[in-house]
Amino acid sequence: MREYRISILGPQGSGKGTQGFKLSSFLNIPVISIGQLLRDEVENNGKYKEEIKSVIDKGKLMPEDILFELLKVRLSESDVQNGYIIDGFPRNMDQYRILAGYKPFTHVVFINISDEEALKRINGRRVSSCGKIYHMVYNPPKHNETCDECGEKLSIRHDDTPEAIKTRLEIYHTYTEPVIEKYKKDGILYEVNGEQPIDDVFEDIKKIFDN
Ligand code: AMP
Repeated sequence: MREYRISILGPQGSGKGTQGFKLSSFLNIPVISIGQLLRDEVENNGKYKEEIKSVIDKGKLMPEDILFELLKVRLSESDVQNGYIIDGFPRNMDQYRILAGYKPFTHVVFINISDEEALKRINGRRVSSCGKIYHMVYNPPKHNETCDECGEKLSIRHDDTPEAIKTRLEIYHTYTEPVIEKYKKDGILYEVNGEQPIDDVFEDIKKIFDN
């Protein structure tokens, strides 16, 4: 079977996490969410806990040294040896260049939405500790504020505040868009329209991997 190494990029709220989750079951490979990796480090009282918490809450990007230290450990684990999906990476050209020393991506999926849509999406977002993501209007849980998968109470992310969202969108336009352009030039970028219902976006993503 073909080995897929996939990156999913797009603005905040474009559905990277949601689609990554679905693509992971479809291709039967794990998804590595860099944001989740960092949040887990905080949750598990890791050595970079305080630094990570302060950067994430402000909506800024983590420094490369810590990021790659955590990523290297994750990429050495046995479940990702036959392929993986990375959600939210690389987010700037420095990360892109460092990644050149790793096995290259086979596909970069770019989920495109406007800033206006991003803001609407982030406002209703709720997350579960198992990684599942909901929107209280577009993709609500079956039972009020509890996760359909694990039954845990849903929460609002600490960085889904108006100030942090503004910073994250600015960073996306300034630093991540050039990375997207670069992957386009590299010939491995697949753009999908993220402003459709979740299942329609996923149908478009599936088509990339059906061939
Ligand atoms: P996300 O869950 O993808 O929205 O990421 C949440 C936060 O984690 C971001 O706002 C950043 O602070 C941090 N983060 C995630 N991915 C990266 C990355 N590739 N580089 C630096 N920081 C990141």
